[in-house]
Amino acid sequence: MKCCIGSFRSIPANTDSPVRSHPTLFPAVALLALAIPALTNIAAPVRVAAQEPMGMYAGPTVLRAARLLDVETGEMHRDAVIVVEDGLITAVNPASAPDVMHDMDLGDVTLLPGFIDTHTHLGGQISATSFTDAVTRTEAYEAFNAVKYGGITVRAGFTTVRDFGGDVTVELGRAVERGDIVAPRIIPSRNSLGITGGHCDVTGYAPGIREGGPEEGIADGPWEVVEAVRYQIKHGAQVIKTCATAGVLSMEGPVGAQQYTLEELTAMVEEAARHGMRVAAHAHGPDGILAAVQAGVASIEHGSILTDEIMDLMIEKGTYLVPTSHLVDRIALDQLPPLVRAKAEEIMPLARESLGRAIERGVPIAFGTDAAVLPHGENAGEFAVYVQMGMSELDALRSATIHAADLLDTPDRGRLAEGMLADIIAVPGNPLDDIEVTKDVRFVMQGGRVIKHVVGGRDMHSMGR
Ligand SMILES: [Zn+2]
Repeated sequence: MKCCIGSFRSIPANTDSPVRSHPTLFPAVALLALAIPALTNIAAPVRVAAQEPMGMYAGPTVLRAARLLDVETGEMHRDAVIVVEDGLITAVNPASAPDVMHDMDLGDVTLLPGFIDTHTHLGGQISATSFTDAVTRTEAYEAFNAVKYGGITVRAGFTTVRDFGGDVTVELGRAVERGDIVAPRIIPSRNSLGITGGHCDVTGYAPGIREGGPEEGIADGPWEVVEAVRYQIKHGAQVIKTCATAGVLSMEGPVGAQQYTLEELTAMVEEAARHGMRVAAHAHGPDGILAAVQAGVASIEHGSILTDEIMDLMIEKGTYLVPTSHLVDRIALDQLPPLVRAKAEEIMPLARESLGRAIERGVPIAFGTDAAVLPHGENAGEFAVYVQMGMSELDALRSATIHAADLLDTPDRGRLAEGMLADIIAVPGNPLDDIEVTKDVRFVMQGGRVIKHVVGGRDMHSMGR
């Protein structure tokens, strides 16, 4: 997996590298605190019939709640009703709710569309060993991590993520669609594309150790880039992720330096587009950000140093900024090697300042956290940063719903409306008054399946968690 601020990447198991198949990843140091306070007023008991799988009810389900937020209009509906059947929303606030077996009154909560995090790395969690995991851990290690962190993430209300990992999160996404694993729906990139020795490569080792080619995402020159794009798509990528500039969590530098040329980035975007796919570009420094925007990428990840010229071009082209900003408050700097820590301390204040100017100027923003650098499950902390930097609560919620769905080209989610996927969450209180309630998700439904339902402080679907 390849991280953005950082960089963690996975290598296919059949690589011919001398060191075999070692994806990336960091041990699971931080077991998350999924703060789920013990309060909740849940009303009517749920009548549960045979379920297959757990939380999935046969026949239509009616959800009732004190409030429902229409994230498009900003309108807050009272005494809301949603009807769900076959994994889809079939009605919102109908004149009369059907009489069904599964009629759930969630009580004093606000219904929202399931959140979308457009920048995660479910296969790992940053730790003191992150920089050696690439040559000491197996892909199986990453796979078990991904199951754990995927479960934590979806229970935090994130029913879809765009994940930058390797084969592990390609397969995790497929397992989720089969209903085998409880985790977010995944738009995967497989391996990230980067230059030899760049942020998306594995660096810091002797020659011959973990050398990658286009299959692993390491590609130099337009034609190798085209080959790398084709290979990722052949093996399950639904989006192309690239490192346009140097990064923080890798042993190269300087942190903001441009790595791919405009010619290479243009070849990448054009090849991805021929397959109906978009490109997400990790980029910190202005030269690389500008080249990526000019090439036509769909999103700039991090975007730490934004000039007025860049922001105007992003607005003109509709290029999203994915800020990954909350990690600044949560990254464990003391676990980083000195070189990496110095890069982090240099770039992070600049990124926060750029975010404020981007919000003020009206740059399109899609919610993304870089979870892995941020502890998984703390994704919702990103909302409060946007609000602190000048965004309205409603626009913050839109960044993780309608705007994220637009970036991901997934028009079937991000809104509570007839015909949309039944990816529905509930938070206490009113998130337009207090965005912090997004950290306290009480109910999660994904595709009509109830994954989390906190009753009296206890998650009735936690299976012991
Ligand atoms: Zn990342």
